[in-house]
Amino acid sequence: MNRRKFVNTMGLGLAATSLPTVLLANNGSDYNRDEEAPFPGHSFPDLPYSYNALEPAIDSMTMEIHYDRHHRGYFKKFMTAIKGSELENTPLTKIFSLMSSHNSSVRNTGGGFYNHTLFWNNLSPEKTKASPELLSAIDSSFGSFESFKEQFSKAAATRFGSGWAWLVLQRDGSLKVSSTPNQDNPLMDLADIQGVPLLALDVWEHAYYLKYQNKRTSYIEAFWSVINWKEVSKRFKEAG
Ligand code: MN
Repeated sequence: MNRRKFVNTMGLGLAATSLPTVLLANNGSDYNRDEEAPFPGHSFPDLPYSYNALEPAIDSMTMEIHYDRHHRGYFKKFMTAIKGSELENTPLTKIFSLMSSHNSSVRNTGGGFYNHTLFWNNLSPEKTKASPELLSAIDSSFGSFESFKEQFSKAAATRFGSGWAWLVLQRDGSLKVSSTPNQDNPLMDLADIQGVPLLALDVWEHAYYLKYQNKRTSYIEAFWSVINWKEVSKRFKEAG
């Protein structure tokens, strides 16, 4: 994959995860469809299922607080951070590709806004299967699905403090597992492993502490039962 195709691919990846997603009215949000849109370039996404849909892997209260307070908080702070600048109308993927030239507020809040959108969409209460093409790529890059699962779980478990684990499609077409601190992601030009994020796992304590307390590994194991492989396969296809 050449550089230009890679950049285009990242754009598609974003389009796929930020489809028209303004919250419906009457949900207590400050930002809803009936108000004059305050932020033309960016919008807060709907959760694609109900708060209790992923029980028992992810409990309803965690999901509500995580989405409605943490994720919404990142969105609002991001909007404040970019207010009045050209970033108001700059796609997130472009902001990330030049992240080293932006301030830490844009980095943390923009990452928090984007990463959670990606995360909600790569979870599902439905039982789904990875496409043959994705399974084949996982085999090529990791030797087997079990080996991939082991590497990913280890990356998630050993991320010190707060951060994310990722399955990343690299520029050369191979897959790689990585983890990032805080709200960084593989689209950022300062990430150690860069590429298109196909699968995300939030390992901040706020993602699991109510149900799992300090047992992050139990949360990681439960995560495997609610992955939306259809979505992950779609991201792989669109980026490939
Ligand atoms: Mn989170």
